[in-house]
Amino acid sequence: MGCGTAFLLDMDGVLYHGDRALPGAREFLDAISDHPHLFLTNNPARPPGEVAKRLQAMGLGEIPRERILTTAEATARWLSREKPGFRYFAVGGHGLHQALAEAGTEDPEQADFVVVGEGPGLDFDSLTTGINLILSRGARLVATNPDATVDDWHEGKHRVLPGCGALVAPFEVATEREAVVIGKPEPLLYRMAMERLDSTPEACVMVGDRPDTDITGAARLGMRTALVRTGRFPPGAPWPDPLLRPDWDVASLEALTAAFREAGVLRC
Ligand SMILES: [Mg+2]
Repeated sequence: MGCGTAFLLDMDGVLYHGDRALPGAREFLDAISDHPHLFLTNNPARPPGEVAKRLQAMGLGEIPRERILTTAEATARWLSREKPGFRYFAVGGHGLHQALAEAGTEDPEQADFVVVGEGPGLDFDSLTTGINLILSRGARLVATNPDATVDDWHEGKHRVLPGCGALVAPFEVATEREAVVIGKPEPLLYRMAMERLDSTPEACVMVGDRPDTDITGAARLGMRTALVRTGRFPPGAPWPDPLLRPDWDVASLEALTAAFREAGVLRC
């Protein structure tokens, strides 16, 4: 299993922006390479193999797909546990459809679950189908993650896309049901990550760029946390929650590697 401390790594805003690796990312990954570690993403749109290819294209090395856990996979696994052989109706990107198709059967007429994830697919017809499955058949509403928006870099320009939180909201409003949420800061994704690493909250450090998801969710479970201010939460921004402070709060991954070395976290 390697060294003692296990690392859960958020990706966007920590390791890269768009398709550009952030300074110190490769060195950080080299520094933790002997430790158990897993790349965690709330974004269900791309399958793990595609995520691995992107990371490699950015110069971040060859990362086995088993080291990448997306909310699409975590959602499929959760649904299988709730109801083996489940039937579903899904709205979202191809990563979500691929993960669900491996575990269950698509059935817009007799679905047990209406699953919403990021990406295209939401329109009047899909909303109508989902609402009626929930109201008439008692299907449960499931959201891969709660993020209201997603940052996107299109031909070098930044833009904001609707996140799963925004896409699942019309289903919740129309049915007056609250979705089960799989991704950060809810505990399910972290629990599946620990299962995959055969680890415990005490042994884990979560590294992320968002106080409200990455850090809050991990701290609630009793993990140590490291905030890297290279994404949504810039240097100088005041910490929002006095009760849940990260164990490390740094401006870059270079600073985090140094801080981990100093604290003895990288010792085996
Ligand atoms: Mg992030």
